[in-house]
Amino acid sequence: MTKTADVLFSEAKSVIPGGVNSPVRSFSGVGGTPVFIDHAQGAYIYDSMGKRYIDYVGSWGPMVLGHAHHEVISAVKAAAEKGLSFGAPTEIETLLAQKVCELLPSISLVRMVSSGTEATMSAIRLARGYTGRDKIVKFEGCYHGHADSLLVKAGSGALTLGVPSSPGVSVAVAENTLTLPYNDSEAVTKLFADIGEQIACIIVEPVAGNMNCVPPIPGFLETLRRVCDEYRSVLIFDEVMTGFRVALSGAQGFYGIKPDLTTLGKVLGGGMPVGAFGGDRNIMQYLAPLGPVYQAGTLSGNPVAMAAGLKTLELVAAPGFYETLSAKTEKLTSGLKERAQQAGIAFTTNNVGGMFGLFFSHDEKITRFAQVMACDQALFKRFFHAMLAEGVYLAPSAFEAGFVSAAHSDDDLEQTLAQAEKVFAQL
Ligand code: PMP
Repeated sequence: MTKTADVLFSEAKSVIPGGVNSPVRSFSGVGGTPVFIDHAQGAYIYDSMGKRYIDYVGSWGPMVLGHAHHEVISAVKAAAEKGLSFGAPTEIETLLAQKVCELLPSISLVRMVSSGTEATMSAIRLARGYTGRDKIVKFEGCYHGHADSLLVKAGSGALTLGVPSSPGVSVAVAENTLTLPYNDSEAVTKLFADIGEQIACIIVEPVAGNMNCVPPIPGFLETLRRVCDEYRSVLIFDEVMTGFRVALSGAQGFYGIKPDLTTLGKVLGGGMPVGAFGGDRNIMQYLAPLGPVYQAGTLSGNPVAMAAGLKTLELVAAPGFYETLSAKTEKLTSGLKERAQQAGIAFTTNNVGGMFGLFFSHDEKITRFAQVMACDQALFKRFFHAMLAEGVYLAPSAFEAGFVSAAHSDDDLEQTLAQAEKVFAQL
């Protein structure tokens, strides 16, 4: 029997905190009842009542090929038939690792984990173990998963809920996390001039996607590379979101900056729970069993998840994949901007590769966290709900990036723009 979202949500809330297994899914950022998904195909998700939505969330990034791509599903089925997990090495782990090393030349050794959080948490531990230093630097509004030391002035759901640093994170842990404004090279240079010798690493989203979508301004990533070289700190690009999303070679290839360590997730698993961290051989050699820094996982390198990831990376490596994806994203954002302008609404956008940001703002260009926070959130919420009613599923928060997939057709984009035109006129 079909159940409405209201019924499903109330049933869920009786046994799951807030009815969800990850906070932002609860629509806490926009209010109302979340859409309960029954199934998805290509660019569309279908809710429990059979209503179809054009999906611009894509499971928060992984579904760059669109949902339930038949080749990925076949690969997963074939792997599952052979057994779900062994806790012993399998060849497919090596095949995916080889693919990652081939696509991201900064990586010569890579370790698979099961989430982005595990990837960043482990990369930080490794950077600390390697340098023998405790302090880490992150940027305001960047989210790197929910490990204690990274839940300080974090983005994503932590922003929506207004808990920049969560209770339960001890003061002692938070003290070693220094937070600077994103895109502020001067602040970085100054901090390193003061205490650079104490800093184990910088971790950064090379395109910020957890405070909406904010690309790096020219010189910012270069500055991070320069100070890390000068003070022998480890530069970590958190490419959980940007990896295989903004370009085949990630943000590091797109902007031409080589990090020491990279964290991956999302697209890497093609929709299955996969994360990874890798990089320079000298640093990665500090990891157990080669070195003293401990890290492990019962389901790490899970063969079914590896199969989904490997097939996904094979498919995104097709010539022209990212050119087409970027063109689709550009068509969407420029089209939205044009229609908002026609309706007299202050609105701007950002986009890189297959990720984008929508801002109800008078500012022409959004490059800072403070600008994102100053956007008209009430207007965003109205826009979000009106688009949802029209069958367009956007990220349910003003602080999240949106995602276009290869499955979005010209027709889907045109339809989205036509619906936005209607909605802008009503706002
Ligand atoms: N880093 C970044 C940049 C992310 O966007 C996310 C998740 N949105 C994470 C880390 C954490 O990944 P996960 O949710 O898989 O733990």
